[in-house]
Amino acid sequence: MSHAVPDAPLIVLNPATEEVLATVPATSEQQVDAAVARAAKAQQSWAALAPGDRSRLLRRFADAVDGALDELAALEVREAGHTLGNARWEAGNVRDLLEYAAGGIERLTGRQIPVAGGLDVTFHEPLGVVGVIAPWNFPMPIAAWGFAPALAAGNAVLLKPAETTPLTALRLEELALAAGLPEGLFQVLPGHGPVTGRALVDHPGVRKIVFTGSTPVGKEIMSRCSGQLKRVTLELGGKSPNIVFADADLARAAAAAPMAFLDNSGQDCCARTRILVQREVYDDFLALVAPALTAVRVGDPNDPATEMGPLISAAQRERVASYLTPDLPVVARGEAPSGPGFWFPPTLLAPEDPGCRAATEEIFGPVAVVLPFTDEADALRLANATRYGLSGSIWTRDLGRAMRLARGVNAGNLSVNSHSSVRYWTPFGGFGESGLGRELGPDALAHFTETKNVFFSTEE
Ligand code: NAD
Repeated sequence: MSHAVPDAPLIVLNPATEEVLATVPATSEQQVDAAVARAAKAQQSWAALAPGDRSRLLRRFADAVDGALDELAALEVREAGHTLGNARWEAGNVRDLLEYAAGGIERLTGRQIPVAGGLDVTFHEPLGVVGVIAPWNFPMPIAAWGFAPALAAGNAVLLKPAETTPLTALRLEELALAAGLPEGLFQVLPGHGPVTGRALVDHPGVRKIVFTGSTPVGKEIMSRCSGQLKRVTLELGGKSPNIVFADADLARAAAAAPMAFLDNSGQDCCARTRILVQREVYDDFLALVAPALTAVRVGDPNDPATEMGPLISAAQRERVASYLTPDLPVVARGEAPSGPGFWFPPTLLAPEDPGCRAATEEIFGPVAVVLPFTDEADALRLANATRYGLSGSIWTRDLGRAMRLARGVNAGNLSVNSHSSVRYWTPFGGFGESGLGRELGPDALAHFTETKNVFFSTEE
């Protein structure tokens, strides 16, 4: 998201009411320089701490997040329009990520490799200063996917939150300091992508960029990182399939399909926005899914019964609306509040042409398409007819088919007879234009290190 005035303060709005919540100063290029210098200094002493001490400090940070869970969730509801249930889960996820990363510090072991004439061992050396550039759709968890393992592995972290959602990140920075993390080790730098984000990408003192956001910005970041051979992890867009075979439990598949693309108002990189249904059950599926979609409760994110809130901004609502061209048949549409707030109703389209924009581009809103397929080969062809490859679901009772599809679909995160994608203890990332590298899972800390091999001669 670019802004006309690069150093203008960030105006944070409540997307459910359009009220101004806060004005946050943007970080300039010079301030990024100073932050990198502070971080580099803090990183030296952090990496020199005993593993158990680093672990203890991160656990204290996790405890501080746990203690502020309600406050962080309320902030997320206000600045991002997330439902209260989701926001509480998100704050809890930050705590869990910190706990998990803290538990990995004493397990970040190297290897001893048999060699003649000596001893060969490997070490995981921290990279130094890591830049995390986060999007607005899951401001807290996605930031923590980067900062928790990076800190655990002995790095300092500079976090640039998205323009629209800096408040939870700033609160997390305060909690880290209060928990005893050294000054300068974890700094939050709110600002504009092309200024603050780019300054982090271009700074020679930053040794890795963890970026989550749109594919075009990801590509630009990768090319700018190449000049310094800077490490980069990219978590980008998606257009994930939800494949429903005739032999599936149709009632379950149809009941689960709406929230698989409506959660977080569809602003989810893993949203299952291409629903592919075997032709012989296509009409039955539509008859089941339409009432399930219209029953989704859209409204005040603070109401615990609400299942879907607003979109993040007026610009995002305009983008989403641009996909609903008059030629596209609408098979189901839910309700959305009128009046202030960036609302958009849940919408299911049935385009004739599987190559149309709505069926191929990431909409990042509460809109999905449903398309028929004939057989397994056709399902696989349609599922893989995308430049993306982040996630997907397969609904079938046939175990062999589930295995074949799970191996055949080109995506990093698949689920069978469910829509689960992200657990902090399993690896996550995309194929194709959905990204580069993996986050989370058992190797999360190692991704923030360089492997060093050392040979000790035992010859006299
Ligand atoms: P975006 O690319 O506009 O911005 C993401 C972040 O990058 C923001 O902090 C922004 O300020 C910064 N940025 C923008 N331009 C920059 C530049 N030139 N240099 C450095 N930083 C820059 O994306 P967005 O609209 O905030 O997020 C939505 C996108 O994120 C969607 O495409 C979605 O699929 C993707 N996403 C992917 C995952 C994943 O894990 N694969 C997760 C969540 C979101």
